[in-house]
Amino acid sequence: MKDTFKHKGMRNQLADVVAAKGIKDKKVLAAIRSIPRHLFMDSGFEGHAYQDKPFPIAAGQTISQPYTVAYQTELLQVKDGDKILEIGTGSGYQTAVLLHLRAKVFTIERQLELFKKTNLFFKKMGYRPKKFVFGDGYKGLPEEAPFDGIIVTAGAPEVPQALLSQLKIGGRLVIPVGDEDQIMTLIIRKSEKEFERKELGLFRFVPLLEDKN
Ligand code: SAH
Repeated sequence: MKDTFKHKGMRNQLADVVAAKGIKDKKVLAAIRSIPRHLFMDSGFEGHAYQDKPFPIAAGQTISQPYTVAYQTELLQVKDGDKILEIGTGSGYQTAVLLHLRAKVFTIERQLELFKKTNLFFKKMGYRPKKFVFGDGYKGLPEEAPFDGIIVTAGAPEVPQALLSQLKIGGRLVIPVGDEDQIMTLIIRKSEKEFERKELGLFRFVPLLEDKN
């Protein structure tokens, strides 16, 4: 599959749709205009790539809705060179958005099939996260902590304690919390022991699964 002017045109429209739903961050909208979402999906589905909808990828998982990706990314307030941990790499689309914002990205995926597929895709496309880890993101990535931001792209039954402890002071955790539906939750670390918690809109994600071994 290639990236063409037609795709570029559809991306511009998609960015306009996402902006109309309330996303204001210019850099986030620019990332949506620039990243070829159709290449993150299996060929044959490219007609769906520029609708503002989630879509099935491998291993029963989904590529998040563009609005949701934009919403979570806006909440993270990524600055040039920030260290960001992403949990739930999936198709890698959110990873590409973070890389476009010039973050140093550490990303974790627990489905082996998806991990392998997306790893090859990153290499082919020249997307370079600092680390792409196969494993359980519930535990975070203590050896690389602390992070300026942590983004979870699967629905968490509760906020994993490990993730809170891996935030810098002033760092932001964006995590959908809940079982069936999730409340997008923004947690800002105010000091060693204090965390500010804001509960925002309702979303629906595939579940964050914990590997209990
Ligand atoms: N950002 C991705 C979202 C994929 S769906 C995209 O837009 O493509 C969520 C992903 O989280 C799935 O790929 C799922 O396998 C992964 N996941 C679920 N629990 C996880 C865990 N504990 N650690 C790491 N990844 C997890």
